[in-house]
Order: sequence, then C-alpha cells, then structure tokens
Amino acid sequence: MSIVLDDTHDPALQSWVESANDPGTDFPIQNLPFGRFRTEGQGFGDGDWRIGVAIGDQVLDLRAARVIDSSDMNRLMRLLPEVRRGVRQALSEGLRAGSPQQATFKAALHAQSQVELGLPCQIGDYTDFYTSVHHATTIGKQLRPDNPLLPNYKWVPIGYHGRASSIVPSGHSFRRPKGQTKAPDQEAPSVGPCRRLDYELELAMLVARPNVLGEPIAMLEAEDHVFGVSLFNDWSARDIQAWEYQPLGPFLSKNFASTLAPWVVTLDALAPFRVPFTRPEGDPEPLAYLDSPANRAQGAINIELEVWLQTAQMRAAGHAGDRISRSNYRDAYWTVAQLVAHHTVNGCNLRAGDLLGSGTLSGPRPEQGGSLMELSAGGKRPFALSNGEARSWLEDGDTVMLRGYAQREGFRRIGFGECRGTVLPALTV
Ligand code: CA
Repeated sequence: MSIVLDDTHDPALQSWVESANDPGTDFPIQNLPFGRFRTEGQGFGDGDWRIGVAIGDQVLDLRAARVIDSSDMNRLMRLLPEVRRGVRQALSEGLRAGSPQQATFKAALHAQSQVELGLPCQIGDYTDFYTSVHHATTIGKQLRPDNPLLPNYKWVPIGYHGRASSIVPSGHSFRRPKGQTKAPDQEAPSVGPCRRLDYELELAMLVARPNVLGEPIAMLEAEDHVFGVSLFNDWSARDIQAWEYQPLGPFLSKNFASTLAPWVVTLDALAPFRVPFTRPEGDPEPLAYLDSPANRAQGAINIELEVWLQTAQMRAAGHAGDRISRSNYRDAYWTVAQLVAHHTVNGCNLRAGDLLGSGTLSGPRPEQGGSLMELSAGGKRPFALSNGEARSWLEDGDTVMLRGYAQREGFRRIGFGECRGTVLPALTV
C-alpha cells in the first residue's frame, strides 16, 4: 500500500481551464477523475467511447491530448501503479496555469454538457459487499430484534456475487421491476410490480491490475489492484428481496438495475483524505490476512456522502430536490484493501474493470441511513419532504441523486460528481 502525496495534490495549483479554479467545482486540477465519453455525430457501440478526465466543467480527451495512445479504459486500468501515477503527473503538468502544452490540451477539451458520459469502463464481474455495520445492524434489527448482527459479521467481509449486465450509467431511467412477493398475511405469493422500491447509497471500487487465478492478493499489495472509487446506487426491491433471499441471498431484487457515476476518482487523488482504520473497543481484531500496519494507520478514507431525492412534483415545480441523508465512508467496518484481500484469499481472480460495491453506507445515527428501508423504518414511518409530500418507498417519477466529496484542512476539496437515476412505471403487460 503506497499512499503518496506529491505536487499533484498541492492546494495552490491553478489550471488554465478557468472553471477548474472555481471553489465550488468537484473537479479542480487536484482531482483528475477518469471516465468515458462520446460526442454527437459518432457512431454507437463500445468502440466509440473515448477516455476522458474531468477538469472543471470540461472533459479532456486523453488520446487527442496525446497523453495515451489508446481508447481502452480497461487497458489503462491494468497499468502498473507507478505508470498510472505518471499519467496523473502528466495530466497535472499539462493542465497547470502556464503549461507549454496548453495549446495541444486545449484542442482536446469538450464541454461536459456537450458530451455523453457512459460507464467508466467495461465491467466484467460485480461483487457487492455489506461493509456498514450500522446498516447491517439496523436491517438486522428489523428482521431479528434480539440478534441483529449475525456471528460472522465482525470476522468476514460479507458479500455476494451480483450481475454486471444491468449496471447502467448515471442519468438513465429504469422501469420499476416486477417479481414474486408474498406478504406475511398472504397464503400464496403473487407476481406484480414491486411496491417497496428502494435505493442504496454505495461506493464502487473499480479493479485495476488483475491477479492470477489461485494467487491471493496480500494486504500490502491490495490497493495497487484498485483503480479508484465512484458513486454507486444499488436499487433494491425490498418486497421481492424479503421473499426470495433465503437461503442463497438476494437475486432478482437487486439485478434489475444499478447506477454507476461516470467519474472514477483515483486512490492517488484520494491520498490526502486517508484516515486510520479503527474498531470499537471490544470488537475482534481482523485476522492476519485482513490486517496490516498501513491499513491500521490509514486504511479508511474520509468521503462525505449525500443522498438527494427529487419527486416528479418537485421537478414540475422547478425544485432541485431534498437532501434526505448524509454519511461518511470512514464509518465502514472494512476497508478497500480488506475487500480485495478477502475476495482473493481463496485464489479467486479479479480482473481490470471488475466492480466491488461497498454495500449501503449508513452512518451511526438514525438519520444517516443509506436507504429508505432505514429512513422509514421498513416503511412504518413515512418521512416528510420539504414540499409537503411524504415517502416510505420510491414512487414512479422519483429521481435519486448521490453526491460525494472529500475535504481536509490544507488541501483542495475534490468531488465525485453525481450518480442519478429515475424510476419509471412498471411495464403494464
Ligand atoms: Ca447493496
């Protein structure tokens, strides 16, 4: 694990891209998150995506700027960590005020508002973890009031294999899923549109370098295998989930849609925001394969997270939506490195572009729930919105927006952009 602070993090750096110097931007020159974009007039199909880096309200085409010679993001992700760091250095130098490369780079800029942003890479496999002990405890209490946390929780980073085909880019709408449900007072299940539709506030870790099948990744190298972090919404159908989840875990309640933000903030960009990984007193220490001095010293990351909800009624009235909860990634029970080490301890091979979801990131306080399941107490306590509406679960036309940022005294604040999705009515046939 090599957390390096260098001149790319210097808070005094300014860019010749004026909008990057705006104190409110998510994308100052200290950030440089990666994504994929295409412009109008191009054909369609994966081959047309180009690699871009967000800078202010612009996106820099990396190939046109002659920083790299490929449009294959997964190939870029596979590069050695020091080579990836070299790309970041080259971008930082080329975008700095007074750079001799300004003319070349300027010709490779597009306004973000004029391009289509896609999924940041080709996602091969998707695993979702369950790393918030606060989320696990609150959900567990609803199911098992006397015994909310199962005995393995504090020893094993719990996860399941999800489905990559239904991960959609931010901005896409999706249909309310249908499925099989059975209320406790019903004698037999029935099939129909989900009535307890929920979101989950998560972060996605995108895998960089692969490991060979059969060869675990040790804690010390684990972060070299992670390209960066992006906002992720794991939409969930709670009524379908309640009926199907035993004994093998969630299935159709989760794989109808998950929304991924366009920008991947690299672990290099997040270096200033690392914090110690700690456990509450009395909790077991992680087993040796999930422990390292570096992980204890700065394994966690201080990322502020927010969930915003805009109903159809709000949208019609020009209302930007309500912020309905906030939490912080530093409160997760397991770190990025621990997820990688655990995922591969049995020899499972990760590949560039694989997505590891953090699981719902709830904070310790009730209002910090990362899902409606928590905020409405399983639907029992609808909560009021600022325009007089109330919600227990998502309704058709609701838009959920996730936002995130990292800040610390003495450094430039960097943001994650937005992860946005809208619920459409279920198909009627
Ligand atoms: Ca999840």
